[in-house]
Amino acid sequence: MPHEAISVFDIFKIGVGPSSSHTLGPWRAAQRFIDGFYQKEQLFNIQSVRVLLYGSLAKTGKGHGTDIAVQMGLAGQDPVTVDVNSVEARIADIRAMKKLLLHGLHEIDFDPQEDIDFLVTESLPFHPNALSFLAILNDGQQVAETYYSVGGGFVVKEGEALNGKHAIQLPFPIDKADDILHWCRTTGLGISEVVMENENSWRPESETREGMLKIWQVMKECCFRGCHTHGMLPGGLNVTRRAADLNRKLINGRDYKNFDEWIKAIRDGGSDFKYTLDWVSCFALAVNEENASFGRVVTAPTNGAAGVIPAVLHYFIVFCNGNNNDRILQFMLTAAEIGSIFKKGATISAAMGGCQAEIGVSSAMAAAGLTEAMGGSQRQALMAAEIAMEHHLGLTCDPIGGLVQIPCIERNTMGAIKAITASQLALQSTPDFAKVSLDTVIKTMWDTARDMSFKYKETAEGGLAVNIPISLPEC
Ligand code: SF4
Repeated sequence: MPHEAISVFDIFKIGVGPSSSHTLGPWRAAQRFIDGFYQKEQLFNIQSVRVLLYGSLAKTGKGHGTDIAVQMGLAGQDPVTVDVNSVEARIADIRAMKKLLLHGLHEIDFDPQEDIDFLVTESLPFHPNALSFLAILNDGQQVAETYYSVGGGFVVKEGEALNGKHAIQLPFPIDKADDILHWCRTTGLGISEVVMENENSWRPESETREGMLKIWQVMKECCFRGCHTHGMLPGGLNVTRRAADLNRKLINGRDYKNFDEWIKAIRDGGSDFKYTLDWVSCFALAVNEENASFGRVVTAPTNGAAGVIPAVLHYFIVFCNGNNNDRILQFMLTAAEIGSIFKKGATISAAMGGCQAEIGVSSAMAAAGLTEAMGGSQRQALMAAEIAMEHHLGLTCDPIGGLVQIPCIERNTMGAIKAITASQLALQSTPDFAKVSLDTVIKTMWDTARDMSFKYKETAEGGLAVNIPISLPEC
């Protein structure tokens, strides 16, 4: 079997909320479908396009913005660069005019109500997040392609090997936690140094550093924006944003327009336990409220769980004296490798494994990253990831109304706090005495995922999603 190589930039991706599997993945799939025609100079031969959404994409796609994502992708917009404030107007325009400008160049008739089918009773066997695109060309020829959004924004086209472009030979191939330890022991390097050596196979180290600091910048901007934006979240659940009120309360009503001044003011407030706890919650709420509002976020490893790592990183820079780029990169490189081994040994898709695959994985990533950045040993970092996941096992996915809001937003606060606790526990422990290894907990998570009813796998057909009566407007 060729080795699957996953880069830090596959795990941390700049995108648009609210969901990596239901928004970012389908967006990327639509881009790839239409770009294929553009590359073959057939774009202007397209007469019409239909989109079929299956399984979980059909069941919770409306709440997760899947229909919006595919229209944006077909229009040739990129989730990294699109002006997020323009999305609503663009979609309203398509709906009103019943026209879509494919790849930004070729206008066709397109009525989202008619041309996007939510096939709620149909699933494709390979993965619950499936979508097909059907194009009819001017000469009557039909072209159909099916894609699977397999979690964290990763997309696989039908018939394409799962590892596709990721089949590159790395100096230190890693599939399991034991491989990480093996390479650390053989080379004498720390986890983040081993990961950086692997990243060097893709690009020069300076580019990796620059790209990762850009990602950290997007996380900071997202957190800052979320902490300063009041109002209601979209989608019809009438959820009030809380991060901005909490921020205002904690900072005694003062206003900071500048990130660094804001962080300094938070730091100057001390490190009382409740104060620290409130800030960690505030950071996580802020990111996920931005995510729920179709804002710019970093998938870490998914959008629903996008708040855990920024919250723990902000905790690190404010309360652990960690405002240092080298240590922030150590954190992120280690965290990314943990996300990667969960993807290889289990899943990072809630449609496959429930919320343990999202919040659980992000918490494990953050726990390991924090431990490494705090100077813990490699074994303590892996132990921290194990502890964090152990206490997320069996966590179901049951978003009310199919929206990434309840329980998702608060759940990020829990994932962040558990990550910090897990890291602290590992830093105070001797890994020799640990009874459960990280590889064992990854296997256990996958076993649990397979035993879990489909109702708890991003279908909004179980748990809170059925016990909280709501009526969302059709849109
Ligand atoms: S419940 Fe968890 S897995 Fe499900 S949508 Fe919310 S954050 Fe994602």
